Amino acid sequence: MLLEITTTNQPATDLGFLLHKNPARLQSFALSFGQAHVFYSEASFECSTANVVLDVDPVGLVRGVDQNDGWLEQYVNDRPYVASSFLSVTLARVLREAMAGRSKERQHLAETAIPLLARVTVLPSRGGEVFLRKLFEPLGYTVTAERHALDSRFPDWGDSQYFTVTLEAVITLSSLLTHLYVLIPVLDDNKHYWIGDEEVEKLLRFGEGWLEQHPEREEIVQRFLKRRRNLTRAAFERLVPEEPESAELERAELESAALEPVEPKVSLNEQRIQAVIAALKSSNAKRVLDLGCGEGKLIRAMLLEKQFEEILGMDVSHRALQMAAKRLKLEELPERQRSRIQLLQGSLTYRDSRIAGFEAAAIVEVIEHLDPPRLAALERNVFEFAKPKTVIVTTPNAEYNSKWDTLPAGSFRHSDHRFEWSRLEFQNWAERLTARFGYSVKFAPIGLEDEVVGAPTQMAIFEVVS
Ligand code: SAH
Repeated sequence: MLLEITTTNQPATDLGFLLHKNPARLQSFALSFGQAHVFYSEASFECSTANVVLDVDPVGLVRGVDQNDGWLEQYVNDRPYVASSFLSVTLARVLREAMAGRSKERQHLAETAIPLLARVTVLPSRGGEVFLRKLFEPLGYTVTAERHALDSRFPDWGDSQYFTVTLEAVITLSSLLTHLYVLIPVLDDNKHYWIGDEEVEKLLRFGEGWLEQHPEREEIVQRFLKRRRNLTRAAFERLVPEEPESAELERAELESAALEPVEPKVSLNEQRIQAVIAALKSSNAKRVLDLGCGEGKLIRAMLLEKQFEEILGMDVSHRALQMAAKRLKLEELPERQRSRIQLLQGSLTYRDSRIAGFEAAAIVEVIEHLDPPRLAALERNVFEFAKPKTVIVTTPNAEYNSKWDTLPAGSFRHSDHRFEWSRLEFQNWAERLTARFGYSVKFAPIGLEDEVVGAPTQMAIFEVVS
């Protein structure tokens, strides 16, 4: 099994610094399933190629295995010759620093996209060339795949599922290696070791920044976790697409532009904040969460209330948090005030121990921004894992939209809203949560209430049933 990594980024010999492997030497590593060797077939200013050869020991593999249990298959198989989870483990062991994007001598280069080419001889693809392309092309690779015949002496036997594959891209070395780490066992649709919970952690860690957006992410997760339902469920619950900065920007602009003429923003916003503060105060909570805190308007109001000794704001958007820090003038606050506030970047669709142990949580105008499967993840993270005694949720009341002449019928108040619920829909959702997670709930309108369609905003106040 051979993996070649080539760069033409000059000086190409710097590849040695990125891989932490000296181009002048052959290095060998003993692994539990065989040996790995790293050497360079070319190392010049213009071009360098590092080779990772994996020599899997087929006899060693079956040591200790019950010999009656399909013994022939254990000796006679493709494992020594193909790229598989053995290669992934090898990469993680032998090229660990490079995979993590660390280089003692060339840190800047490690973080720079450079022209890279990886050739794998040979790669099994269950799903053929089509699947191979579907995995790598969305990540920006130019894919060349040469399919091998089942047996070159007998052409009419047809093609095998084995390919020599070349991937080319301008990319960081760390991305290239992590893509290979995750996607090789996915193509092979197999793993040589028992997989448990930590496999989900690995997938999310190495998939960070690309897996959430990948069009084949369902299949990738399924195969990487060997279709083990408890694991794939855990992974899906925690996978959330990060919005690219530009989309966020666009949304923030849309939010201020689109909302202004539609909703009497200042007053409704203010009423919402006051209603949430009042509910939080009557919960007697001292340690409070603002989940999806956005630019920190609620946090500012919380600061004025001495009752709230510890305030944690969390949002998925880095930019929103920057604006919150600015709006709250965090830098200028006296230490006693400053120490009451913490702002954290995080997603409510990831289970997160940092939000556990608080007495109350506010989730203000956030749920309608989540697709249904992500909303399901939020429900568990908040009500089952973080489990504050009081949870306050607000969301638009869709029935009220008809009162705004400027809002065309059937459209949402905000371009990023995934849904807007009627009062009944909101109440049904909330009641389901109470039954499932052991809470009780009360509802309250926010804003001027209309006899027929209700108020513009609706609020649910959940309390743990002790
Ligand atoms: N609560 C604030 C902001 C509401 S806008 C207010 O009332 O002013 C919705 C906010 O939810 C945005 O700041 C958005 O970044 C955040 N958000 C969306 N999805 C999220 C997620 N999965 N986890 C955390 N925050 C999220």
